[in-house]
Amino acid sequence: MLDLADAIVRVRERIASAALRAGRDPAKVRLIAVTKTLPVEVMVKAHQLGLCDLGENRVEEALDKIPNFKSQISNSAPGSMPGFHMIGHLQSRKVRDAVALFDMVHSVDSLKLAQKLSQACTEAGRVMPVLLECNVSGEASKYGFQALAERDFFAQVEAMAALPGIHVEGLMTMAPIVSDPQQTRPVFAALRQLGERLGRLGTASMRQLSMGMTDDFEIAIEEGATMVRIGRALFAAP
Ligand SMILES: *Cc1c(COP(=O)(O)O)cnc(C)c1O
Repeated sequence: MLDLADAIVRVRERIASAALRAGRDPAKVRLIAVTKTLPVEVMVKAHQLGLCDLGENRVEEALDKIPNFKSQISNSAPGSMPGFHMIGHLQSRKVRDAVALFDMVHSVDSLKLAQKLSQACTEAGRVMPVLLECNVSGEASKYGFQALAERDFFAQVEAMAALPGIHVEGLMTMAPIVSDPQQTRPVFAALRQLGERLGRLGTASMRQLSMGMTDDFEIAIEEGATMVRIGRALFAAP
């Protein structure tokens, strides 16, 4: 518990320093604590220590953990539910479960998935904030729109922005794994520029940039991240 409390303080300090280096307001960077693979007890501790946005990357795992978490929290601290963020690849057949579990989806990676989400959210009578996952590094192993290569990406964004039941709020990316985190900078800068271009066209609100993980979040913040998704820096044994 103490270790986690310390880790949270350290991560928040690093977030604040990176924001200040870039002349940004640290309060404009939201910390998404990634609790994938961790037991529910750790999620509860994280929540007790003030982490109010939790990220999971698999619906299957979240189906098990989130309801369990909620039943524990509603007894001890009703009315203080964290936001749950789906950050991993979402399969079409899991969309309905995802809509029931999550408050935001960071990983919309195709028009078809957006349409499925739109339909499920409309049926559930809710509006889901979503981010469009973009593969800006061109790595073949990654999910996401080939946003810089697909000529019709802007038209697809326009189509997604018009769908009922979802609200496109910005972009998400994962940087490649590199030995020197500085090498991720062009990827984050490219995502920011893409968001700026889309924002200028006015087709979708592009307020959010979800980018940066344990190894590269400070660089992502310097390049404009409004959400960082952090697992190991918070939860891994030092
Ligand atoms: C696991 C994961 C993270 C967090 O990674 P760390 O390196 O542990 O900080 C962020 N985003 C996604 C999509 C992930 O799957």
